[in-house]
Amino acid sequence: MKLSCEVIKDLLPLYYDKVCSKESALLVEEHLADCPQCRDELQKLNMHLESPTISNQEVKFMENISEKWKKDKRVSFTRGSMLISALAALICFVSYNLIGSKLLPDGTLVEPFALIPIGYLFILLFIISLIFNLLFLLIAKLKKNNKKS
Ligand SMILES: [Zn+2]
Repeated sequence: MKLSCEVIKDLLPLYYDKVCSKESALLVEEHLADCPQCRDELQKLNMHLESPTISNQEVKFMENISEKWKKDKRVSFTRGSMLISALAALICFVSYNLIGSKLLPDGTLVEPFALIPIGYLFILLFIISLIFNLLFLLIAKLKKNNKKS
């Protein structure tokens, strides 16, 4: 039995979704075997139904990852600089205590590696990092709330 291309075109979506009867499927396959036009139609169905859903999901997935990564990078950067400056300040003050300092007769404080000002500098850096860290966390939180509402 030969079916016209019009009939096959009507059947193709059903055939593609595998919801037509076995008999119809056989007829469609028989027709597809020697009709390149209808094979093209089936290929179009494949592309139309599959590619948009996959790419949409993929794009969303990538967006989520890149957003998370961007946020995490900023937060972890400030967190790392907090840790390093706190550690550096601690080292400065501990080594200052270990090395000690001399008070010259004229009242000036002599300490070999300028540990106190450097220590305070690191404390300042720590405070700045802390502020930025909290700021980035706050921004991330606000963005999340905006998305929800
Ligand atoms: Zn055909």
